[in-house]
Amino acid sequence: MSKLLPCPLFIGGEWITVSGVATTPVHNPSIGEVIAETPLCGADVVDQAVQAAAKAFPSWMETPPVERARILFRLKVLLEDHFDELARSVTTEHGKTLAEARGDVRRGLENIEFACGAPSLLMGESAENVARGIDCDSIRQPLGVVAGITPFNFPAMVPLWMWPIAIACGNTFVLKPSEKVPLTTIRIAQLAQQAGLPAGVLNVVHGSREAVDAILAHPIIKAVSFVGSTPVAREIHRIGTANGKRVQAAGGAKNFVLVMPDADVSNSSTGILEAAFGCAGERCMAGSTAITIGKAADTVLPKLVDVVSKIKVGPTDRDAEAQMGAVITRQHADRVCELISQAAGQGAKPLTDGRATRIASAPNGFFVGPTVLDHVRPEMVTMKEEVFGPVLNVVRMDDLDAAIELANSSPYGNGAAIFTRSGKAAREFRHRVQAGMVGINIGVPAPMAFFPFSGWHASFFGDLHLQGRESVAFFTQQKVTTTRWFSYGEGTIWADR
Ligand code: NAD
Repeated sequence: MSKLLPCPLFIGGEWITVSGVATTPVHNPSIGEVIAETPLCGADVVDQAVQAAAKAFPSWMETPPVERARILFRLKVLLEDHFDELARSVTTEHGKTLAEARGDVRRGLENIEFACGAPSLLMGESAENVARGIDCDSIRQPLGVVAGITPFNFPAMVPLWMWPIAIACGNTFVLKPSEKVPLTTIRIAQLAQQAGLPAGVLNVVHGSREAVDAILAHPIIKAVSFVGSTPVAREIHRIGTANGKRVQAAGGAKNFVLVMPDADVSNSSTGILEAAFGCAGERCMAGSTAITIGKAADTVLPKLVDVVSKIKVGPTDRDAEAQMGAVITRQHADRVCELISQAAGQGAKPLTDGRATRIASAPNGFFVGPTVLDHVRPEMVTMKEEVFGPVLNVVRMDDLDAAIELANSSPYGNGAAIFTRSGKAAREFRHRVQAGMVGINIGVPAPMAFFPFSGWHASFFGDLHLQGRESVAFFTQQKVTTTRWFSYGEGTIWADR
């Protein structure tokens, strides 16, 4: 085993190596090797970070938004300069391909670009003469110390959904990245420090449940932004709001991709492939269920199986030709295989089967090959659980109405897509589908940084989503001022003269 990479905390502008606490391993999933150990910190460390953030807040709040934005502009340039290094870091700790890792960093960077617009994003509203001689205006002010808790599947992007816009709005931040992928966050925080971010504005703590519990209980923290699985998101929202905090908690998903009989065969099979197997299916926007309508099963499925069977699975950190990487841990690979076996036991027919995938050059990697399960029915396990791996359910149905009904029966509501040449069908689908992010001839309709990441139902708990103007609203509170100026002495206003 090669030397372990450091996993320090970042508190009050200092890099702190912790010792004497329990740790959890960070793997390079491509080869199954431990590359770092994440310290599992508790309430004491969270409190140190919160105190550092609280100390930094008064001066950061008074820093004009243009000056805050200038630091973010410098950070953007540094991230561009280190773009490939960051993408390699994502590939190493997560396992996704370099192309996917570049997408992860790029989508994160776009959130910094959005946050650079803080001076205009923070502008309020004003109205003259709301009553005779009286004017009214609103301004946005930061909340104070806020926190973010992130999942493993987008090591660069998801943390960047949160803290750049939060600090651009004048808050100071405590970030707890996923204990499975802490390394890219550490590198980005180093670059933020290099960009001139003052000490304590961004703090990074490591850990899992104990650290999260301490964040939720800390009286100084005003708001919590969470992204992760639905059971945890639901709890974070429940406990955080009970403790008087503002909470946005994005959860898991089951996303449906409908294929109409008139769909373009080549584009829709590529779109489904990308939606189901991109990032080895470890995406909250993964199109994990394709519903073929009518003869779409006969036209699109053969083409889909042909392209899926050609996907090259491999160790993405060393094989530039690998098109799909490993999943995050050995336990997760085993769970995905177990779910495939259970669905097969319930009558699903594997058209491709990734359970036996072994890579000669990386025998210890956590690989599961792309798996297409045909003749899947709603009661089967892979329809009920978020598999979060390279598994595509194919459900055959006869008409659009029934397909929309099936999609709407899901407890989740993140994404949904349709492939069709019919404007009428697309319109009907968009109007009726119970999901917050819709794709029309696009398999993964993840919105850009200036739109909200708009999950519904069990895919989101809270009111204001991550990304876009909703995130500005989430990280600020409004102050509405009503003004009257007297001209000659108390009680007489100009208009009354
Ligand atoms: P996870 O819920 O296991 O972990 C997310 C974070 O919560 C981590 O930082 C972890 O340390 C912490 N955590 C885990 N268990 C906890 C507990 N019991 N109490 C308190 N904190 C806990 O999620 P994950 O496996 O890292 O990520 C995958 C999940 O995230 C999937 O369900 C995926 O759909 C979801 N996700 C959702 C979105 C979205 O925008 N809706 C985006 C990305 C990922």
